[in-house]
Amino acid sequence: MEQLRTEGIITKQVKYGDNSRIYTIITKDFGKISAIGRYKTGKKLNTDLQLLTYSNFELFLGTKSMYRINETSTIQPFKNLRESLEGFAYGSYFAEIANRVSVENSPDEEFLRLFLNCLYALDKGIEAPKKIKTVFELKTASVCGYTPDLSGCSLCGKEIVFLDTLLGKGFCESCKKNPPNLLRVNETVVNAIEYICSVDIKKMFSFNATDELMTYLGIISEEYLKTQLDCEFKTLDYLKKIEEM
Ligand SMILES: [Zn+2]
Repeated sequence: MEQLRTEGIITKQVKYGDNSRIYTIITKDFGKISAIGRYKTGKKLNTDLQLLTYSNFELFLGTKSMYRINETSTIQPFKNLRESLEGFAYGSYFAEIANRVSVENSPDEEFLRLFLNCLYALDKGIEAPKKIKTVFELKTASVCGYTPDLSGCSLCGKEIVFLDTLLGKGFCESCKKNPPNLLRVNETVVNAIEYICSVDIKKMFSFNATDELMTYLGIISEEYLKTQLDCEFKTLDYLKKIEEM
């Protein structure tokens, strides 16, 4: 059997027999994969195989596209994130998004970098979690090819006052359509969205926003990603419960 090496983040685990689990891993070289691994040997837990851990993997490709994990070593355990209720809730939501947008045999290095950088920022407390979430949502949409076109009203070119979250386009007051998907925007909101979507990942948190703007951007980014991916995220309900505590 061919031996393969890659690195990746564990985004899901399902029990498989007494000592094993089936892991979903977003890898650098093979995109999203499913792999069987032993999470404990005797009484000893394999700490490399925990949710949201970034590790090196040595794999064998078995039958039915299922990989087997042979060796592991942790690159970044994201320990703070995993040990905090709030951090873990955010990380789990990011992982569910990653599972939704990642594809088997289709590695996306830019998305992996975005995912890692956002987990790192959460783990180290570099930015407020709500800001990290908003940036992750908008940047994910953009990396996946769903950047909204906010350059002007999509019908007449005038200044936009609405974003249609389904079409990913802006509309002015007189041209607006599809009322259920319209969110009101102004120049400040548009500038912030355009900055986040277009800037390099290294500078994605380098903007200042008032609490009021951040709150509104948070509503837009969440709604926009959900609508564009046509997906309800289960982990988002949990995250909201934690945030209300
Ligand atoms: Zn118009």
